[in-house]
Amino acid sequence: MRVCVLGGGVVGVASAYFLAREGHTVTLLEARDGLGLETSLANGAQLSYSYVAPLADPSVLPKLPGWLLDRDSALRFVPRLDWQQWRWCLAFLRACRGSVARRVTAELLGLGQLSRARVHELVEREALAFDYQRNGKLVVYRDPEAFAAARRQLAYQATLGSHQQALDSAACVALEPALAALRDKLAGGIHTPSEEAGDCHAFTVGLADAAARRFGARIRCGVRVDGLRREGRRVVAAQTSAGDIEADAFVVCAGMRSVSLLAPLGLRLPMYPLTGYSLTAPVDPARHLPPALSVTDLHYKVVYARLGGQLRVAGMVDLVGRHARADQRRIALLTQQARETFPGGADFDAAATWCGGRPATPDSKPLVGATPYSNLWLNTGHGALGFTLACGSATLLADAMAGRPAALDLSAFALGR
Ligand SMILES: Cc1cc2nc3c(=O)[nH]c(=O)nc-3n(C[C@H](O)[C@H](O)[C@H](O)COP(=O)(O)OP(=O)(O)OC[C@H]3O[C@@H](n4cnc5c(N)ncnc54)[C@H](O)[C@@H]3O)c2cc1C
Repeated sequence: MRVCVLGGGVVGVASAYFLAREGHTVTLLEARDGLGLETSLANGAQLSYSYVAPLADPSVLPKLPGWLLDRDSALRFVPRLDWQQWRWCLAFLRACRGSVARRVTAELLGLGQLSRARVHELVEREALAFDYQRNGKLVVYRDPEAFAAARRQLAYQATLGSHQQALDSAACVALEPALAALRDKLAGGIHTPSEEAGDCHAFTVGLADAAARRFGARIRCGVRVDGLRREGRRVVAAQTSAGDIEADAFVVCAGMRSVSLLAPLGLRLPMYPLTGYSLTAPVDPARHLPPALSVTDLHYKVVYARLGGQLRVAGMVDLVGRHARADQRRIALLTQQARETFPGGADFDAAATWCGGRPATPDSKPLVGATPYSNLWLNTGHGALGFTLACGSATLLADAMAGRPAALDLSAFALGR
């Protein structure tokens, strides 16, 4: 089958790879001059298969006033005259129920486990160079109540097959000596040895190269899709800056742009960007002591990952509009928090800064699978977990398109679920 994949971020490239590997004739269209230059560019680098609990959870409700009023809160909400923002927020509030959060956690853990198996297989088969590390993750807590809640989540996730361990402050520092400055502030931490890290952009570029070289996928950068031409309930062509491109099937993986691409077809994707920031700071081993593990400082909701000679720092979840620009105040705050958590961890003065919009659904689950159009498929809306879940969701997509039983229940990720 001729398959046209729209969008060359990590999700589009993973989709193209798995579909090409099955024998489909794949063409991937990417508007930018290179792959992975939007949200997949400089994210937190975490392959955090076990940290998939949704943002929508009953515990966030008392925190909402802080998100509105505190400009330095890790999560910020700035209301706009934008019905898409309000519709997303209402759906988010509806998802803030314990029963929904538990079910979504179980579904995303399943997808995370599937993704991990696929990443391991790719690392074996494709010799991808993306600063990949199986270094484990340590999430540290300063607030005893938050740590107690994390231990309850650990107990729940243990019933679903996760292997994690709760540590006191001294054990956290023994495991990750770079945390020494926080010794007296920590309530404890949760260690997950099976978590991994890597450079999402390098992964995206390397996987696209493998798809093209080994399975004949055609990767076309600099081709912008402006719309989809349909006949009845079928899409017949992508209307692009390089003319109409016909195919037997179309897969939409255009990140946040998926929403406006599909609106003219009457499809409403429940997605909104959650803006976040990252720093990529150089590390001089003679002068700096960066963390060796992937670390999340839950107090600030900031993640840290070592990528070769650099330390990647990422954080902030800002619901501030569809076209948010980098806010220098947020970047300064992130830099200050990184310095406090890991003084001497990297050269933060020389850090490259970045801002991206996580393409998020209200319940944190991606949209994967069929649409009301017989040959139009979705793989988008991965929010804060696109790198982690890309290979799992691409596998589900390939199952669905082949019409064979999927590795997981596809209805959990369907549009209109
Ligand atoms: C601060 C931050 C930290 C993060 N940390 C992590 C992390 O540690 N781990 C993790 O798993 N995830 C993380 N994420 C989330 C992750 O980065 C995203 O979920 C993921 O990159 C989404 O990938 P995507 O392919 O769906 O979208 P994108 O990467 O945005 O790709 C969409 C592509 O489609 C192209 N496109 C759009 N419109 C068109 C068009 N009309 N025609 C052709 N091409 C088009 C775009 O140019 C783009 O390349 C983080 C995100 C942020 C912002």
